[in-house]
Amino acid sequence: MMKSLLIANRGEIACRIIRTARRLGIETVAVYSAADAGALHVRSADRAVAIGAAPASESYLVGERILAAARDTGAAAIHPGYGFLSENADFAQSVIDAGLIWVGPRPASIRAMGLKDAAKARMIAAGVPVTPGYLGDDQSADRLLAEASAIGWPVLIKAVAGGGGKGMRRVDSADAFVNALASCRREATASFGDDRVLIEKYIPSPRHIEVQVFGDTHGNVVHLFERDCSLQRRHQKVIEEAPAPGMDAATRAAVCDAAVRAARAVDYVGAGTIEFIADGSQGLSADRIWFMEMNTRLQVEHPVTEAITGQDLVEWQLRVAAGEPLPCRQEDLAIDGWAMEARLYAEDPATGFLPSTGPLTRLRLPADIRIDTGVEQGDVVTPFYDPMIAKLIVHASTREAAAEALSAACAQVEVAPVRTNAGFLARCARADAFRAGTATTGFIAAAGDDLLRTTDDAPAMAALGWRLEEMMEPDASPWAPSPDALFGFRLNHAPMPARIAFRQNGTARVADVRPDGAGWSIALDGQAPVMRGETLPTTHGLLPAAPWTGPIQIFADGDLHIVDFPNRPELAGGTTVNGTIRAPMPGRIVSIDVAEGDTVTKGQTLLVLEAMKMEQALIAPFDGIVATLTAEQGGQVVEGAMLAEVTRDA
Ligand code: ADP
Ligand code: ADP
Ligand code: MG
Repeated sequence: MMKSLLIANRGEIACRIIRTARRLGIETVAVYSAADAGALHVRSADRAVAIGAAPASESYLVGERILAAARDTGAAAIHPGYGFLSENADFAQSVIDAGLIWVGPRPASIRAMGLKDAAKARMIAAGVPVTPGYLGDDQSADRLLAEASAIGWPVLIKAVAGGGGKGMRRVDSADAFVNALASCRREATASFGDDRVLIEKYIPSPRHIEVQVFGDTHGNVVHLFERDCSLQRRHQKVIEEAPAPGMDAATRAAVCDAAVRAARAVDYVGAGTIEFIADGSQGLSADRIWFMEMNTRLQVEHPVTEAITGQDLVEWQLRVAAGEPLPCRQEDLAIDGWAMEARLYAEDPATGFLPSTGPLTRLRLPADIRIDTGVEQGDVVTPFYDPMIAKLIVHASTREAAAEALSAACAQVEVAPVRTNAGFLARCARADAFRAGTATTGFIAAAGDDLLRTTDDAPAMAALGWRLEEMMEPDASPWAPSPDALFGFRLNHAPMPARIAFRQNGTARVADVRPDGAGWSIALDGQAPVMRGETLPTTHGLLPAAPWTGPIQIFADGDLHIVDFPNRPELAGGTTVNGTIRAPMPGRIVSIDVAEGDTVTKGQTLLVLEAMKMEQALIAPFDGIVATLTAEQGGQVVEGAMLAEVTRDA
């Protein structure tokens, strides 16, 4: 086995590789860009080398820098992870030429599978069923249109150099073809520097089925069964599982054998994935599953295969790269139970899944399942790389139990102030079609708003419950020293009926509180009452620990809800009882309304912070004087930063 290994990647996959290397007694070398100097993969490795500026094109994609780092540290091998240089045959060759071990397939195999058209031609020759389509050299729009018409609509135009769901267009009719072709070519040129395309029949009710294959340098090739990655958003995988639902033994044998044949056809060494597209309209059957492409690397979703086979695929990669034979023969491998993986991303479903960058001030992930991550609480999601936060991986004896565990795990995720897709994932994992195992790649787009639902009454209720207690106790101050004084509650003092205006995630809502029996009821936004409550002599607030000084942050079903009460300014500010004004959350100072030495009255706005897309006035907690003012107009502040200090009038 090699003595040391440089990992030419970052994030969760770098951490994942380091974990196995360490267990095998291999010294690990991390590389990092300027944006990643303090990143978890750097903290986890035995040694770390800076390789350039934050953009990947100036660091993780610069082969010479990585080779220099290997030379300087005496690393014996390079593992490329996925993405970045992992499928770059020239880089693989330069690693080998430098006398190092390349943890991956031979450069010739990468090349053979690198372009989708050449790969398909090769697979046809090897007797692997391939999606019907046009792979020819004639790239004129007329010829492509004629071929598309001959195949029959709808068709898919695919960039031959494409990957990661980019450079693909579905076209439903001849009229739309020319425009779609032009736009596909533009994207292909921008992303891959190659505008050639192929045309494929668009498979109806498509399901994405892929097979994990592994080869060694002794001529052995095995498969580690299939995965189903049909739950996709814009051709990007969202939830993956192994095995595939509805796969019978005969179909599995046919598909997995085809995958092994495909790998053998390119003398494959190491971990690879053969991706197939299946027509799922009548369940899975061998005559309706076709080769789509091969990914010549470890795949993001490899953990579900590890879970059902009990193997460590990174260990397999390292052993094979060191020249050892595969750890198992085909007949030693079997499927145990069911595994699922959800990709937790720093992205905001409410803004069309735009990446959400910033500090992970709160990052709480379920404790009892496998989590592959490259960040810890307190780390920052930067705009430079793929915004994946973690992979949540569950394994159970049945598919039902795995789906239940996955939705529960996603619902427990707590991340703030960065927005995530956790709630969306939880709803996907609960969806009927997913539970039934019949979801196609079009399921998410078709489900639309059901999966995107972001306003939910439960978080509003929780915040209102707390607000109500505070409101009904006229003498209680949120800054009172005793928790009893804060949460103590006398119903008689309650001003009812009452209308409470609040904002949930920036959207104005209104709650009407009316006496109802021995308690009260709450109606939201003019609808029928949705909650009725009674208060006990001493209650405890649902949220949060006193003293509370900011908007209320509620985690529910994986979603982050920010509820604030703008008509009660003292609840929206970052003041504390002793007059120190701190930033209640990270943000930007958008206005400063006082100067040092000013006399201020209780409730007067001192400054305004913009955080989480909302403005918050920070106000004077009592009559006094602005003793210090450290905030700067336009300045970015971290949570808890001291902004000003108010002292009581002498
Ligand atoms: P594919 O969609 O090609 O079947 P994956 O879903 O495993 O395969 O990954 C999508 C593409 O984006 C791949 O090229 C992969 O290497 C890249 N990729 C995915 N996630 C990351 C990440 N966190 N960092 C770098 N590259 C990534
Ligand atoms: P990439 O290299 O970007 O991963 P793929 O060829 O693997 O490209 O296709 C990505 C996704 O696009 C598939 O997982 C599937 O959802 C969809 N897709 C690809 N080919 C077809 C097809 N012929 N018919 C229907 N959907 C397809
Ligand atoms: Mg693919």
